[in-house]
Amino acid sequence: MRQLIWLRSDLRVQDNSALAAAMAAGPTLALFLLSPGQWQAHDDAPCKVDFWLRNLGELARALGQLNVPLLLRRADRWDAAPRVIGELCRQLRITTVRVNEEYGVNESHRDRAVAQTLACQGVGFHAHLDQLLFQPGSVLSHSGGYFQVYSQFRKVCYRRLHGSLPALLQQPAAQAPLGLVGDAIPRAVSGFAPPAESLRALWPAGEQEAQRRLRSFAEQRIDAYQQDRDFPAQPGTSQLSAYLAAGVLSPRQCLHAALQANRGEFDSGSSGVVSWINELLWREFYKHVLVGYPRVSMHRAFRPHTEALPWRHAPDELAAWQQGRTGFPLIDAAMRQLLATGWMHNRLRMLVAMFLSKHLLIDWRAGERFFMRQLIDGDLAANNGGWQWSASTGTDAVPYFRLFNPLSQSRRFDPEGRFIRHWLPELAGLDDKAIHNPADGLFAPADYPRPMLDLGQSRARVLAAFRGLPCTAPEGGP
Ligand SMILES: Cc1cc2nc3c(=O)[nH]c(=O)nc-3n(C[C@H](O)[C@H](O)[C@H](O)COP(=O)(O)OP(=O)(O)OC[C@H]3O[C@@H](n4cnc5c(N)ncnc54)[C@H](O)[C@@H]3O)c2cc1C
Repeated sequence: MRQLIWLRSDLRVQDNSALAAAMAAGPTLALFLLSPGQWQAHDDAPCKVDFWLRNLGELARALGQLNVPLLLRRADRWDAAPRVIGELCRQLRITTVRVNEEYGVNESHRDRAVAQTLACQGVGFHAHLDQLLFQPGSVLSHSGGYFQVYSQFRKVCYRRLHGSLPALLQQPAAQAPLGLVGDAIPRAVSGFAPPAESLRALWPAGEQEAQRRLRSFAEQRIDAYQQDRDFPAQPGTSQLSAYLAAGVLSPRQCLHAALQANRGEFDSGSSGVVSWINELLWREFYKHVLVGYPRVSMHRAFRPHTEALPWRHAPDELAAWQQGRTGFPLIDAAMRQLLATGWMHNRLRMLVAMFLSKHLLIDWRAGERFFMRQLIDGDLAANNGGWQWSASTGTDAVPYFRLFNPLSQSRRFDPEGRFIRHWLPELAGLDDKAIHNPADGLFAPADYPRPMLDLGQSRARVLAAFRGLPCTAPEGGP
């Protein structure tokens, strides 16, 4: 009864549903598919692909201790996956393939095609819930549809958590050696240039590192999360998103670590813990939205009537935003953080996303795509959800007339300009007032651009664009 665990975004041995099930059922091998063509089509960032490869190296060692060989095969696009996996199953006499579920239209289509091919060969295919706390389709509104409003979704999640907590799985014991050797993990995949060592050093690979970060956050910083989380100059958030996105860490592990820091309470006690669990539930919410409203993973707005917005074609302005040359220091500092580290603070993600989609009135899809091409934690559901929220085209979206003003956000969330000074050294000499808006001061630095737009005019332009929309209600679920 040989088992194959096909690893995707679940690069860990601890608390891994499919791995635990496979090893309980019989001798197990592991597989990872290299799919550079598909990754390119999905705009996966080179630093994220590098993070996968580095984690695969760690994972191969951890699996080796369980005597599970990790095999690599190439399926450039996912339409090759049924053939490649089918052949492997024949060669190795696999009886069952197990996966942890992934969400998204292409992922579901791929898995259905693989399951069909395997069924024709008499090989079983089992998908396990692992990336989420609750099965999509199991958290529904009274009318039986997927939620469109986060607070209502969260209420049902709380009720479910009060009923029973998703349990952590025990790490499987080592199996008898199979006499098969795993494949070498490449250091790079063509088409994805390895990132700078300085970026790599920020995101060490492996479960041990992920667990260390989780422990240190839960023991030292989670209680202050509520106060600190909006200040980008402080390490106020967990910085675990890359580990969660690659599945080096599970949401169950995060939930349990948070609960342990709060005597088992998730909706009372430490406000930091409650607020952090709410963020884990945002992650959960957007993945449920992806399943319930598949149009969002096909480049379409959640609110269809917003498709009529008169987005501007302004490639030079898009480039200035991408390169951190807008003349608004906090926006530019944020974009430079993204380019240098593959990560951006959440408050700044909202700010730069609103700046592009509202102040510049450039289609949110251009920003979503650019983010995906840079982010080490790039995740279709969270990225799409965050962009559509910011652009007021999505579920729960911020009302269209609410625009973050980059100058007042800067004064409020980076009051001493510490974050700006770190990323824009050319402004380091300015005082705490001028740093937010150098063009306004007496000594505007010559090597820093003037603001690329007038905030009053850009605000009026986007409000007029939204007011000009035909008012149609959002479509319901499928
Ligand atoms: C425009 C935009 C794009 C975004 N793109 C992504 C993305 O590609 N990948 C991604 O993981 N997150 C994305 N987010 C959500 C959020 O910004 C990041 O998850 C967060 O900044 C990661 O830092 P952290 O691990 O320190 O988070 P923490 O504040 O410590 O939160 C803990 C975890 O909860 C999850 N989480 C937190 N906030 C959100 C949220 N708003 N939506 C969904 N999940 C959340 C993440 O997994 C995060 O690691 C985006 C937000 C916006 C506004």
